[in-house]
Amino acid sequence: MIGVVLSAIGAVVTWNKGPEFGSHWYPLLLVVMAMPCAWMGGKLFHEAGTKGALACGESRRNGPSPVGKGKKTMADIPVPNGRAAVIDTFGDITAFIRSDGTLSPKWEETKIRRVTLPRPLPFSDTATDVTRVTCHVLIVDTLRSALRAIDDAGKWPALHSYGGGFNFRPKRGSGEISLHAWGIAWDFDPEHTPLGGKGNMDPAIVEIFEANGFFWGGHFKGRKDPMHLQYATGT
Ligand SMILES: [Zn+2]
Repeated sequence: MIGVVLSAIGAVVTWNKGPEFGSHWYPLLLVVMAMPCAWMGGKLFHEAGTKGALACGESRRNGPSPVGKGKKTMADIPVPNGRAAVIDTFGDITAFIRSDGTLSPKWEETKIRRVTLPRPLPFSDTATDVTRVTCHVLIVDTLRSALRAIDDAGKWPALHSYGGGFNFRPKRGSGEISLHAWGIAWDFDPEHTPLGGKGNMDPAIVEIFEANGFFWGGHFKGRKDPMHLQYATGT
């Protein structure tokens, strides 16, 4: 818009300056020519802003999100129920599996992002701290809100440790691809929450995750997986 304003000022200033400034159509032409440039600039800026919103570590929303307080917003992705719905919502990973059985790096490039934790968490069984965790690009905000709510509730230390997020592997004990491969599942405190056991995940942590749409593996109908949280039900 600056171009338009400057040209318009130029038009007014030079309008009655006599023949050395050219005829009257010349300043008008400058105004007309500045219009598409201003419009293009605005459009490019808008698109850059839209792309930036998808990057991990960035938020579509400004300021604190209300999701962590148990409220849902329009920006939330509905929790898929069943495998077909997972594929519908988060993408068909089988299309990215190469003939040798490995996953094309394009899947991770296009679908997986990293969310910065409210504070570091030890990686299970190591002395290394994790500062970011992986997740599907569509639920960056949802996961971040849940983790912040856990921290806000003073429950961060009760998470104990991080066991992993995005991981292309079969679901343990079945031929199905694990939901970890979609970046919609995470394990916490694997040392104290073995597969098949009751586990000891803090009920307040489970409650916060569930209020944000996540499903806890400790509530699986069959074999319990109390270290596991996923953004899907029925699978
Ligand atoms: Zn898991």
